[in-house]
Amino acid sequence: MDLHIQGKTALVVAASRGLGKAAALALAQEGVNICVAARDVNTLNQTAEEIRQHTSIRVLAVPADVSSRHDLERLAQAVRQELGAVDILVNNAGGPRPGLFVEMSDEDWLQAFNLNFMSAARLSRMVLPSMRERRWGRIINITSIGVKQPMPNLVLSNAVRTGLVAMSKTLAGQVASFGITVNNVCPGYTMTERVLALAANTASQTGKTSEEVITAMEASIPMHRLGKPEELAALITFLASEQAAYITGATIQCDGGYFQGLM
Ligand code: NAD
Repeated sequence: MDLHIQGKTALVVAASRGLGKAAALALAQEGVNICVAARDVNTLNQTAEEIRQHTSIRVLAVPADVSSRHDLERLAQAVRQELGAVDILVNNAGGPRPGLFVEMSDEDWLQAFNLNFMSAARLSRMVLPSMRERRWGRIINITSIGVKQPMPNLVLSNAVRTGLVAMSKTLAGQVASFGITVNNVCPGYTMTERVLALAANTASQTGKTSEEVITAMEASIPMHRLGKPEELAALITFLASEQAAYITGATIQCDGGYFQGLM
């Protein structure tokens, strides 16, 4: 299926590995020019090179910490200069630290808010003026299944990402008439370094091995396996497509059936 996004420009942040990288690769395979951003310049450059090897589109790599307003301003300027206006924005960030409510300080809350909420708010604000002018745009936020079914031990993630979903829903209504869609995708347990780190954290607290923790995760999923990053990337790419023009304000899970609720 031709998704009609060839030649468009996407900014995918927190994209040196895992879900962000998979999204960048999938969009590149549709002929979209890509800017990837993440903090670690070496991994980021390797990722950019990998994308170039798979595709013939233009790839820009800009080191940036998405929790830094200054870095995001620099990033937005670099994309504008090198690739032009952003058509597709994929907001992503590392996950906030796991732990119980009683373990979290004010600093932990503010850090999580800056990382997982303000990064998306700031980047969306930066790309919206040119999307409105051109009457076309796609904003896709990578959140978590925790916004539908809060995950034990991830209080920061559950709370802050739910705020992002509410902001996106409101924004979707405000920009729909400009041909701009705003949607959230919710990965369930998906095989990336983040899941391995969470499994190691749970293992250290429960006396189990990481393998046992992953087996328990798999048992909780009706499909009895973790997701693959490219499965979430396929959903993101579809939401970026012309065909998805009428889908906005949606929060869609990609979780192998993990979420048991109706909505
Ligand atoms: P990951 O740890 O494998 O990759 C995270 C990426 O974000 C890396 O490229 C890292 O360099 C980058 N990053 C982290 N902090 C950053 C910062 N401050 N500035 C710029 N880049 C930064 O994680 P992932 O599994 O790909 O997850 C991506 C997002 O999805 C995370 O927020 C995670 O919590 C969430 N999520 C993941 C899963 C899962 O099962 N993998 C499930 C639900 C939600």
